[in-house]
Amino acid sequence: MVRINSAFIEKLRSYGSFDINACYNCGNCTAICPLSTENNSFPRRMIRAAILGLEERIDSSVDPWLCYYCGECTDTCPRDADPGGLMMALRRYQIRKFSVGKIGDFFYKSFHSFFVWLILTLIGVAGIFYFKGNPDMEEIKPLSLFSLDLLHYAGIIAFVFLLVIVFSQLYIMLKSTNFKSESSNKSGNYFKTFFTVLFREVFFQERFEKCEDKSRYFAHLLLVWGFIGLFIATITIMMMDFFAPHSEGIRIIPKILGLISGLPALYGTLYFMIIRAKKKGSYAKFSHHTDWMFILLVFLAILSGFALDILRWSSLFKVYYFTFAFHILVVFELIVSFPFTKFAHILYRPFALFLVELRNSRK
Ligand code: SF4
Ligand code: SF4
Repeated sequence: MVRINSAFIEKLRSYGSFDINACYNCGNCTAICPLSTENNSFPRRMIRAAILGLEERIDSSVDPWLCYYCGECTDTCPRDADPGGLMMALRRYQIRKFSVGKIGDFFYKSFHSFFVWLILTLIGVAGIFYFKGNPDMEEIKPLSLFSLDLLHYAGIIAFVFLLVIVFSQLYIMLKSTNFKSESSNKSGNYFKTFFTVLFREVFFQERFEKCEDKSRYFAHLLLVWGFIGLFIATITIMMMDFFAPHSEGIRIIPKILGLISGLPALYGTLYFMIIRAKKKGSYAKFSHHTDWMFILLVFLAILSGFALDILRWSSLFKVYYFTFAFHILVVFELIVSFPFTKFAHILYRPFALFLVELRNSRK
């Protein structure tokens, strides 16, 4: 039996700005969308489901993740219903919906979110004080500012915590989409599909490239590449600290990779901050407070990382100390909030594309 939630559209309003009740179902948005296909037709299908209050149909759909919010449907909608805005709101709704223990609720409700960020900041600051104590700034050397061993153990704990949450949430999404029962009679090549999605959609963002606004595509591509480079550089340095703590010479390689990757990532974050601040285009017309928190944290993490690389060679020990503390605090907040905020799109979008690719390859 199909259940109808008449209050669903009202619930959705807290996740975005749109006027979907104005829609008269002309289908123009689906016709103009460069990403909508016969097999995966959106956004009209999602619009109908939202208007009719078919909450379960929305929960079980991966369509919101197939949209890159190019805004072409919004710009050409004859009723100004903002279908692109609705798709964005649905993604925020699903991030909250798929979060373990509904933790996402705390980040998406503005009132609660203020306290969540405050608590995370206090925990981070307390952790930094606990690890370091009260150093005499004039005597310490830059590399002995923090107990690196303790930091690395904290990093490993955070990593394990993230893995558990990430796989739990992907499982929740998988269960919600009922994907298994749809395709249980057919065979599929999981690895081939996984690597196809990884190369085409993660490394080269092929679907995103179909959107008309190429500057947004390039900024996003640079951000993704920069982010991957920074991730590899950070993990490599952490591994070296553990397994080869005296290998100062070869550490230069991941450090250079970090510096090279930081530049495109910084450009990407700055680009998105500027177009959001200027409300440039339908994509940036409305920004949820969670969008701002995510992009700000990424920007601050990269910027403080850069500053550390420069300060490392200076004698400004106090400045280095506080920059390091700030960097750790920002990275801590970013990591802990990752599965419950906009950051989680790097998880759900590839997974949705993987499921769609698998489904299509079996037809
Ligand atoms: S959202 Fe706009 S373009 Fe899409 S079906 Fe409704 S009225 Fe037509
Ligand atoms: S915002 Fe772009 S990708 Fe998303 S539904 Fe509209 S036209 Fe398609």
